[in-house]
Amino acid sequence: MTPTPEPDADEMHRFDDLYQVSRSEAIVEDDEFLKHMSAGSELPVLLAALAAALGDTSILHADLQPPLTPMDTQPHPHGGMSEDQKEKAVSVALSALTVLRDKGITTVDVLPDETVREILHYLSGGREEWYRMLTHELDLAADKGGRPSWKFGDVAKGRPFPTLIIGAGVAGIAAAHRFAQAEVPFTLIEANTSVGGTWAKNTYPGVRLDTPTFGYSYSFAQRGDWPHQFAQGGEILDYLRDVAERAEITDRIEFSTRLLRLRWDDDGRFWEATTRGPDGGEQVRRFSAVVSALGQLDRPNIPEFEGQSLFRGTTMHSQEWDHATDLRGKRVAVIGTGASAYQIVPAIVGDVDALTVFQRSAPWMLPAPNYHHPMTDAFSWLVRKVPHYAQWYRLWVILTGIPGRTHTVTAEADWPGAPLSVSAKNQELREYLVARLEAQFQDAPELLQHIVPTYPPGAKRMLRDNEVWAAALLAEKTTLVTSGIERFTEDGIVDNDGLLHEVDVIVYATGFKPSDYLDEVEVLGRDGVEIHEFWDGDARAHNGVMVPGFPNFFLIYGPNVGGVVAGSLHFMLERAVEYSLKAIHEVLRRGAAAIDVRREALDRFVAWVDQGNRRMAWGQPYVSTWYQNRHGRVSQIWPYTNVEYWEITESVSESDHEFLD
Ligand code: NAP
Repeated sequence: MTPTPEPDADEMHRFDDLYQVSRSEAIVEDDEFLKHMSAGSELPVLLAALAAALGDTSILHADLQPPLTPMDTQPHPHGGMSEDQKEKAVSVALSALTVLRDKGITTVDVLPDETVREILHYLSGGREEWYRMLTHELDLAADKGGRPSWKFGDVAKGRPFPTLIIGAGVAGIAAAHRFAQAEVPFTLIEANTSVGGTWAKNTYPGVRLDTPTFGYSYSFAQRGDWPHQFAQGGEILDYLRDVAERAEITDRIEFSTRLLRLRWDDDGRFWEATTRGPDGGEQVRRFSAVVSALGQLDRPNIPEFEGQSLFRGTTMHSQEWDHATDLRGKRVAVIGTGASAYQIVPAIVGDVDALTVFQRSAPWMLPAPNYHHPMTDAFSWLVRKVPHYAQWYRLWVILTGIPGRTHTVTAEADWPGAPLSVSAKNQELREYLVARLEAQFQDAPELLQHIVPTYPPGAKRMLRDNEVWAAALLAEKTTLVTSGIERFTEDGIVDNDGLLHEVDVIVYATGFKPSDYLDEVEVLGRDGVEIHEFWDGDARAHNGVMVPGFPNFFLIYGPNVGGVVAGSLHFMLERAVEYSLKAIHEVLRRGAAAIDVRREALDRFVAWVDQGNRRMAWGQPYVSTWYQNRHGRVSQIWPYTNVEYWEITESVSESDHEFLD
């Protein structure tokens, strides 16, 4: 990772950001070059950044406001600005850039609230209800609202309140950072040997983000110099390690330490945690509160097949990639065509001797020609020369992601196109995507009939396509098997047509067991109730965070907070952390022992998210997706926007909770 200039202590305080670049490089280029850079920018972002740097919002003319055309088949650059708007915007940006150059402006200070409002008004088309949520993501806002406004010592000086944070992945790092800022004492355990969670474990060939990089970072660690438009796995892992270092968390982590059991002691009002450490020994410790930042997609799903143990070759799950196995010259089978297989297959097809892909259902693919591209030269220049361009760009990705693609997957009641689509808009998307597949597979009609999905777009995760998937399937050495797997033999896999596919290596790209939240951990709450008994296969948590009967127990990335067609994952995680801290603050402020959410509050929340999910493609009774649990309820997905989640996590309602003395 390219080192970013270290901020001085004052700047850290001003911006509450672990990456804040204190100074941009001076602009020395001529007007012609600046015009070229303006034209290569994301224009609403550049105008916002320039308005902020110049302290002059008058450049954000009303007639330059982006219409925010919703994403459908593809994103709309510049928020869908017309040609005329773009031309005018380039000229306004050019004048502003020359002022920046001629005045030698290389810094920008925290913005007055009024300026924040004016810029958000411009970017969002005046959607006031978005402003508070967006301010949370705006590094130049005086009060983003994410950093805790209180310190443990001011509220509960001298009170023992040991807290356990479980996991040092994306969620655990966020939790530890905010808990450290509030000076809440915590112990952070991580079963792995390093930070990074899923990004430390998933190292398979081709692993990378399948959502834009700039939407995938913390509000408090807004790195600007990302190399790729869709970051590679190693780049994200480096970022997470770097954030943990900058937040001074790494040295506090107990690595190779796994949580085995939690038991709430109602008399003592504490959690008893049993962990297994690096030496294999078990330890029992007491904590006042527990924050679970355990991942949702970390238990490999390896389906059972007849004769599985007979196979003499190498097998591996995508998450447990065996880098010691050289695939060159080997005959390889990949089972599954989900997000992981979709990255593995094109990455290995060049190396292997023969590739057999076992597909149960075909994936939908959204066009993303830039999927493997580095950031453009213009982007990199703007990041270096225009103060906070990268941070404004990040805000813009999050802003346009508020509605995201929701409207393309929202179901219409009694839609006649079911089960292939859920609405007129969804049908339109389907036809567009099918036409792309027809073009890609025009010379292979026998394949085409198998690669058109038979379910509505959006019912499962849609993948990003830059044509490499089709190229891999069309390669002469590749065989696509769609009849299903009958059994394994010593030498390979027999399909349901009775054909034996002889292979040396089998890759299970068969996903995870996501609906089993907190699996492998026993969590005994009040009255000795075990959390999985309470859930009975249907994981539920109020606001995705708290479960009745489990006091002072907080889930980060719990049930029903995952986003698929809209929203920022990091936003959801950070808000869950902030909400947990607010709950703890309430406990401390009242001098109570613990907080427990009421059952009615949970039921109300679940009814509300269920209502939302029933309107979406993945909530239709005729689709089958891992977003649904064994009861058929969608327990994975948040069906609303980031704005609604901001609202429900803004305060801890007194009437929804019980405080234990
Ligand atoms: P997945 O999306 O659940 O895909 C699993 C694949 O295995 C599916 O094609 C599934 O078929 C198939 N499969 C499962 N059981 C099978 C069986 N018994 N026989 C034959 N095929 C079987 O898993 P994944 O690809 O690992 O991705 C999981 C999630 O991880 C993604 O949705 C995403 O959230 C995340 N992920 C993200 C990224 C990224 O951001 N870059 C990359 C990878 C994964 P069916 O579709 O028919 O069930």
